[in-house]
Amino acid sequence: MKTQDIVDALFAVQAAILANESQIESLDRAIGDGDHFINIRRGLEVLAAMRDELEPLPPAAAFNRIGTKLLSTIGGASGPLISSLFLAMGKSLAAQDTPDRRQFAAAFMAGVEAIKVRGKADLGEKTMLDVLIPAARQLVQFAEQELPLAEACALLSAEAEHNMLATRDMIASKGRASFLGERALGHVDPGSKTCEVAITAVCQSLLR
Ligand code: ADP
Ligand code: MG
Ligand code: MG
Repeated sequence: MKTQDIVDALFAVQAAILANESQIESLDRAIGDGDHFINIRRGLEVLAAMRDELEPLPPAAAFNRIGTKLLSTIGGASGPLISSLFLAMGKSLAAQDTPDRRQFAAAFMAGVEAIKVRGKADLGEKTMLDVLIPAARQLVQFAEQELPLAEACALLSAEAEHNMLATRDMIASKGRASFLGERALGHVDPGSKTCEVAITAVCQSLLR
């Protein structure tokens, strides 16, 4: 994996998030405070503007720069969480100039672990982790099996969609939706939707 792949993936994520504006917006309006889409869009706009700065960096430094920048741009609960994902990925890849799939998968796992620590959350709490934790486990497994990229991507996308939809039937124990108790039932978690859209977009970008 090269930094160019990371930058291309960021642009793919940006396009996909924008294409899902109304859904992401309405989910956070239903069980949050309605700002999730705007928070994420702001972060992605800032990253897109950093293209020239990111491209010459090794992947670890690029992830580190992305994480540092997102901390001050996304805001809300999701800002520090997503920031910690990228910072931990940068740390995990520090020794690798062109990380292979195993190293990338291990870095993503480290990033998801960092979100768990930062948010004091785990599976089943109706958060972005319900999509991210299974995705990290799949990535590690697929890298070990050396599964062809197209197959891995199809499985990752399908699993992310399934897990995103499953948050509909969960009661939130973290974040704003936890204030609603059973009233959050029937609504998908906005952070899960964002992560599902992002995972699918990254896959499509890597397959191009
Ligand atoms: P805020 O809730 O501060 O307005 P956002 O709307 O940007 O922030 O993000 C909300 C999303 O953040 C939720 O949908 C959920 O996925 C995620 N989230 C909130 N708290 C946690 C947590 N403790 N751990 C993991 N994810 C969380
Ligand atoms: Mg919000
Ligand atoms: Mg908010």
